[in-house]
Amino acid sequence: MKQYIVLFFLLISRPLEANVWGFYAHQLINRMAVFSLPAEMIGFYKHNIQYITENAVNPDRRRYAVKDEAARHYIDAEAYGDSSLYKLPRYWNEALKEYPADTLNEYGIVPWHVNRIRHRLTDAMQVMDASAILRLSADLGHYIADANVPLHTTANYNGQLTNQHGIHGLWESRLTELFAKEYNFFVGKATYLDDPQLEIWSAVIRAHECLDAVFGIEKELTEKFDPDKKYSFESRGNQTIKVYSYSFSEAYHTALQGMVEQQMVQSVKMVADFWYTCWVNAGQPGLDKLIDFEFSKEELDLRKKELEDWKNKKYKSRPHDIGDDAE
Ligand SMILES: [Zn+2]
Repeated sequence: MKQYIVLFFLLISRPLEANVWGFYAHQLINRMAVFSLPAEMIGFYKHNIQYITENAVNPDRRRYAVKDEAARHYIDAEAYGDSSLYKLPRYWNEALKEYPADTLNEYGIVPWHVNRIRHRLTDAMQVMDASAILRLSADLGHYIADANVPLHTTANYNGQLTNQHGIHGLWESRLTELFAKEYNFFVGKATYLDDPQLEIWSAVIRAHECLDAVFGIEKELTEKFDPDKKYSFESRGNQTIKVYSYSFSEAYHTALQGMVEQQMVQSVKMVADFWYTCWVNAGQPGLDKLIDFEFSKEELDLRKKELEDWKNKKYKSRPHDIGDDAE
């Protein structure tokens, strides 16, 4: 298994897109989840593993173009008061009875959105729509992974309220880029989830509970570190960018005691479990029949355009944008 893991890492460690760090973990999570699928599913997913991997980041790219997209990636737990994650309505329709849609969208809707995409994926499997199955599988993997990131569950998402600006990119991008190749992604076979909606809320709660350590340890280390040693400069293509130094990143990663690995591995398992659960709920359709499917030119053009728009930074960044803010 170890060799496979190293191989997968090598396959996707090439710089897929310049200056994009946060994307690496999403791509690795979607890719690794494929290998937990049962025999009846793995053929189709493996055949399309490149799509599932590369498009793990579509939702982040869409944030620049689609008005409602940003809210789907996070939830600001504090906005709803103490222990809100234990009390918030688990289903969107119930949530709408307690809060206006605008409020929910303002503070983020990731756990509810996971459920919405799960239903859409189940429907796509039921009607054997290969294009939709792949697109929604990639999207679902993204949102589930986001729900497992501690800094996606707080209003202080980039340490901006505690003078720890850049911590989002440090935790989610820098650490995974440096250390994920050593993680053990062997999560076993996907299992059926009786109540996927409660699972995603549990994931958000677990992620949120990590936050004391995420912030506390960074603060402690910063106090101990010579300020000149906290950051360094690296070249990316023809740019020189400021990053958290290797020594600071390594010290932080060690002090977090396996937290990043745990959250990432948990995401891999959960993504596989959700895909599998959708397939079971769709009546276990024979996905092998779709194996010769190829994307239409329109679909490929659309993906290309999203990528171009994103690369050209045609759209202004919005709150909760992440990934390039180590400085
Ligand atoms: Zn995201």
